[in-house]
Amino acid sequence: MPRVHNWQLGREMLYPYDESHPKRQFAFVFNINRCIGCQTCTMACKSTWTFSRGQEYMWWNNVESKPYGGYPQFWDQKLLALLERANPEGQVWNTAQKDGGQAPYGAFEGKTIFEALSEEQHQEGDTLQKTSGRVLGYLPSDQEWEAPNIYEDTARRPDNWHQRWGGEGTSLPAHHTWFFHLQRICNHCTYPGCLAACPRQAIYKRPEDGVVLIDQQRCRGYRKCVEACPYKKSLYRGTTRTSEKCVACYPRLEGRDSVITPDGVPIETRCMAACVGKIRMQGFAQIAKDGSWEKDPDNPIYYMVKEEKVALPLYPQFGTEPNGFYIPPRWVPLDYLVQMFGPGVEHAIEAYVCPSRRMLGLLQLFRASQKIIFRFKVSEGKKVGESEVTLPSGKKRMLEIFNDTATGYDAKGREIVQLTVEEPVFERSPEHYNSI
Ligand code: SF4
Ligand code: SF4
Ligand code: SF4
Repeated sequence: MPRVHNWQLGREMLYPYDESHPKRQFAFVFNINRCIGCQTCTMACKSTWTFSRGQEYMWWNNVESKPYGGYPQFWDQKLLALLERANPEGQVWNTAQKDGGQAPYGAFEGKTIFEALSEEQHQEGDTLQKTSGRVLGYLPSDQEWEAPNIYEDTARRPDNWHQRWGGEGTSLPAHHTWFFHLQRICNHCTYPGCLAACPRQAIYKRPEDGVVLIDQQRCRGYRKCVEACPYKKSLYRGTTRTSEKCVACYPRLEGRDSVITPDGVPIETRCMAACVGKIRMQGFAQIAKDGSWEKDPDNPIYYMVKEEKVALPLYPQFGTEPNGFYIPPRWVPLDYLVQMFGPGVEHAIEAYVCPSRRMLGLLQLFRASQKIIFRFKVSEGKKVGESEVTLPSGKKRMLEIFNDTATGYDAKGREIVQLTVEEPVFERSPEHYNSI
């Protein structure tokens, strides 16, 4: 099997195809701390792409409540259990190995879903399912796809629903309670599991923007991609007998929505543009020939992922090099987050709760424009306050807050938005209290 370089793992890894990279890569950052779980993003995608017959259980965008929720149910626990079995020594990271800055989270010393299968598939009597012969995975049952919000809005289980969730609910030992919303779309991975497993070669990665698509003409519905996507973001449609997945709203990325952008600049995808909590920022990373991200500190995505390291990939140990990144929730136990986002969590939370002036400015630009922000600038303003913050280590640090101004620019370099850190207050005159 060819060897490819995975920067998130800090090492080379095995992958069924030779290394090949797009010119630029669709990527996004979700700030978990701000999400209110309103599902507006979910419905924006549903009403655009998946409202037809056969797509009833398709949620290309979903928001699940961790630690108990998941769509399909238990998708990550199941994958982690499979991976743990392939890594009896644990899914270990060597955080001392930074490779001159090329391995920002250290080196992953375990096996990925592409490396684990050969030993796993020979185990006799294994009750966990195996997949395509190329990628470690499993096919969720129909039951697991049924309820996208189970464990979110079902405080008490109904008695009569399939007789499966009867009873009085559960009581747990007293403990520190926490939960958070995890927003999920296809990660348009650099090394997609879905693409690796497809026996029809119906899945491809676009050279112009790295978006991963399923060719509906070539797909025969074998569901190998559904088995192999570790994030379970390829979904099967019974009425057409093909698999479908998030298309990254590619007409919008191409600037082909003539109503919103008659001037043809790329605009945000539906789920991003509709986000009420303003938690989402999307853009493109410029990709060098060797697959690394070209240095571009004025690009919001590059700045957050590579410079501040405030946003981290979801389950990087799977090995697909996902291009979705998350600012982790600051109130959740660190060991849970390290399992989910890798060893960079403590630094990422520090960089979020005690942000640099540039980072605090950039946070104002999340969801501030329908157009994709390609470049940003932060101009300094006067100090407006200070506050003591507690870091994940328990240490305290003083945060000074300045009323800086953040400006965003579109693909053509034109200014599209400008916001200050401190929101200005305007008082209406008494005669206009109830009018506009
Ligand atoms: S998240 Fe899943 S469906 Fe999307 S590109 Fe990665 S492996 Fe494929
Ligand atoms: S990017 Fe577009 S297709 Fe993908 S989940 Fe969001 S709205 Fe749906
Ligand atoms: S629209 Fe935004 S705030 Fe609402 S659930 Fe989706 S990601 Fe969270």
